[in-house]
Amino acid sequence: MSDAIVHLEEYQTGARHQAKLISSERITSNAAEVEVRELVLDVERPDFSFELGQCIGVMAPAAPGFGHAHHFRLYSVADLPERGASGLPRIKICVRRCSYIDEYSGEEFKGIASNYLCDRRPPDEITITGPFGLPFEVPDERDANLLLIGSGTGIAPFRALVKHIYRDVADWEGRIWLFYGARSGLEMLYMNDERDDFAQYYDQETFEAFKALSPRPAWNESIAWDQAIQDRAAELWEMLGGAKTYVYVAGLEPMLEELDTVFSGLAGSEEKWQRRKAELMAGRRWVELVY
Ligand SMILES: Cc1cc2nc3c(=O)[nH]c(=O)nc-3n(C[C@H](O)[C@H](O)[C@H](O)COP(=O)(O)OP(=O)(O)OC[C@H]3O[C@@H](n4cnc5c(N)ncnc54)[C@H](O)[C@@H]3O)c2cc1C
Repeated sequence: MSDAIVHLEEYQTGARHQAKLISSERITSNAAEVEVRELVLDVERPDFSFELGQCIGVMAPAAPGFGHAHHFRLYSVADLPERGASGLPRIKICVRRCSYIDEYSGEEFKGIASNYLCDRRPPDEITITGPFGLPFEVPDERDANLLLIGSGTGIAPFRALVKHIYRDVADWEGRIWLFYGARSGLEMLYMNDERDDFAQYYDQETFEAFKALSPRPAWNESIAWDQAIQDRAAELWEMLGGAKTYVYVAGLEPMLEELDTVFSGLAGSEEKWQRRKAELMAGRRWVELVY
């Protein structure tokens, strides 16, 4: 999405739709400090449609005194387009309950939209807008390599993409390597001890998943991409040089710098890596959805 990065105020949020919350399930284990919930929503507008890798906007009621009625935030769609029992378009999103520390007072505040969403229960109504953003496309070449690199809730669009490829693209032959980074195993969404949605693809010859965890799972600790990536350095570098390799990156913004550092190591220098990345980006073979 980075070639389309716009400030939140620039999004067109005029067209709003009501969505009914069908379910809200915690998908991080109770032992995890972080709460991430998967919300299933039925959009009360039959012609609402979206593509893989796109986001929806959520208009949460703003806190009193903020000067506007809504607090607008974006969420990636975490599954394929489908219709619910009522025939309405159904969307899944996964939402991490967030808070932030005020840099002046040092006080901790709850994030408005994420707490609003995590506190909703069926059959609550939620106002949404969108969809927005560039889709993560399935390459036309069926033998292309896909490197999917996600951190935290950034796994959401890849879950949908991998499902789509193995379910709907019968002649897919390319390799799919998924690198998933989190601070700890407990925070790996859809890929933890209690639930591994990717396990169904492990017997696909073309699919491999690699985990990158933080060496010290403390708040703000960076993800150790180097180990996971360097273990496959030679093969990865060869893949990145191929004309049919696509790299899709999703998750929190600091991962971009972390990835630049490890990929510069693979390339032999930062300059070489930046050249390669620029080539990939120019061919729309490097696509970012970061926040
Ligand atoms: C294109 C796009 C797609 C997004 N997709 C998702 C998604 O699928 N799931 C999701 O939970 N969020 C997603 N976000 C982030 C989301 O839009 C909100 O920023 C987030 O829910 C916090 O909003 P808030 O109002 O609760 O708190 P805010 O006051 O906006 O933020 C509170 C704090 O939380 C941090 N933060 C924001 N999002 C995350 C996150 N996902 N993980 C860890 N820390 C975070 C912020 O940096 C800030 O410090 C996406 C953002 C963008 C721009």
